[in-house]
Order: sequence, then C-alpha cells, then structure tokens
Amino acid sequence: MEKIIVSACLLGVPCRYDGKSKPSEEVIALKEKYELIPVCAEVLGGLSTPRIGAEIVGDKVIRQDGVDVTYEYHKGASEVLKIALENGCTKAVLKSKSPSCGKGKIYDGTYTRTLIDGNGILTDLLLKNNIKVYSETEIDKL
Ligand code: SF4
Repeated sequence: MEKIIVSACLLGVPCRYDGKSKPSEEVIALKEKYELIPVCAEVLGGLSTPRIGAEIVGDKVIRQDGVDVTYEYHKGASEVLKIALENGCTKAVLKSKSPSCGKGKIYDGTYTRTLIDGNGILTDLLLKNNIKVYSETEIDKL
C-alpha cells in the first residue's frame, strides 16, 4: 500500500496550538487506499502543545507574543521531510492555512485572520523536494 504523509491533526491527534485536533472524515477515510503516516511538524520541531500561535512574517515565523520560532518551524519541517523520504512518500495531505502545513493560503502575520497567498514552511520544503502537497479540501485531486 502506498504511504502518504498526513497532518496529524486531520487524523484526530490533538496537536494543534490550542491543544485540539481538526479531524476530517474524508482524510481519515484515505486509510482504505493508503498507509497514512501522521506527522506534526510543530511538535517534531520541539514545540509544546498547547502553544502560542505563530504566523509567517517575511522569512521568519513569529509567535503572537513576538518570540521568533523560525528555527523550530524549519527543524520540524526537516524532520517531516526525513520521514517522508525514509518511507518513500511522494504525496502529503496537509492542513490548510497553517504556518507549517498551509498550501496556497496562509495568514498574513498580523493576527487579524487575513489570508494571503503563500505556503507554510513544511509545504514549501516538501514541494521543493518533489513531494506533492494537497490540502484537506483537495482530496479529490489525489
Ligand atoms: S503543524 Fe500541521 S499537523 Fe501540526 S497542528 Fe499544525 S496543521 Fe496540524
């Protein structure tokens, strides 16, 4: 069975910044077709759960209280890439709008819930390494 990377929060793991999960029935149902590998880049980067939310500001990731967490975000993304390559994954299903997992749209760094064009840190890294990324709203394109 083909293995794919999946944002752990979409599979019901309570790893989001607010300590909650965001389960998606459609994503969970992918287990009939794929071996799902749950990952959370932010946890793998060493961040605790719950944690203070962060947004991408330019080439940095800044927590809402002003702390720079760029290093942790990149570290977590590298860990996920390693897992993907070790498992021969060529696809990932990632949670939309997240500063790690978002694809196409992310928050603009002002904490006003304003979306702009862009990818999360993990999504960018996977795409650069030829791993296709689908948000949970794009399952039909898998
Ligand atoms: S980093 Fe990704 S997997 Fe982890 S909580 Fe955020 S959206 Fe979910």
